[in-house]
Amino acid sequence: MAAVTSPFPEPILLYSLIENLIEFKEMEMQSSSGNVVEEVGGSSNKKENVLPPMAGGNPNKKTLVLDLDGTLVHTSLMPMPLGYHFTINVSVQGCDKPLYVVKRPGVDQLLLQLGSTGLYEIVIFTASHKAYADAVLDKILDSLPSNSQGRNLIPPTHRLTRNYCTKIRVKGEPHKVKDLSILGRDLKKVIIVDDREMSFLLQPENGILVDCWTGQQVRDADLFHVLSFCLKIEDPKLPYSATEDVTELIQELIYDQLSD
Ligand SMILES: [Mg+2]
Repeated sequence: MAAVTSPFPEPILLYSLIENLIEFKEMEMQSSSGNVVEEVGGSSNKKENVLPPMAGGNPNKKTLVLDLDGTLVHTSLMPMPLGYHFTINVSVQGCDKPLYVVKRPGVDQLLLQLGSTGLYEIVIFTASHKAYADAVLDKILDSLPSNSQGRNLIPPTHRLTRNYCTKIRVKGEPHKVKDLSILGRDLKKVIIVDDREMSFLLQPENGILVDCWTGQQVRDADLFHVLSFCLKIEDPKLPYSATEDVTELIQELIYDQLSD
């Protein structure tokens, strides 16, 4: 993998990133099974219809919601032993420092075959900070072929960061979860891919749980399995494309592959 360094126009405070990484680790260590869930702040704070109307006027198009860290990329303060794809710059006490980012195998193929073709609407939903998420996404999209729509493949309206997460308490502990009901889409046509089961706690039937990508698993194939699944359920030659509720297909098709 080639290392490419270029200046990032909007400095990111390192303490925020570290806070974020620590938060992820803490959340990963907590199980969601059998827990009592209580929304923090009440329904008055809930966002609604955060996405614009579906582009192209196709209400039947499915929406693929992708987590960022641990699902599409791994980011480190130090170069990874197996290399990295690009860096973004952070500001530490007035000095620029690089963050090293490695893409999970299959990221480019997933975005190109599902997003660039218009087959799926792609949404990034991450608990990370907006400046960090934008920097990583822009680098990924800029590296795709010129006919891929570039940054328009995932426009700002389709980048949901931590302010869009819902705060809930599970066994008294606060968590940020990704409430798909705020999207303004038919939940029978929404798929979320995430490395934390807690993220889709409110709509578990829509979730595809992948292993956490740490930049070490060179043979990781989870995103290729997700891509295969998404293509299969849209293939008019197969019976799945007639199924109106994608949640039935997630349970039927995907977990056999991911457990291989
Ligand atoms: Mg994650």
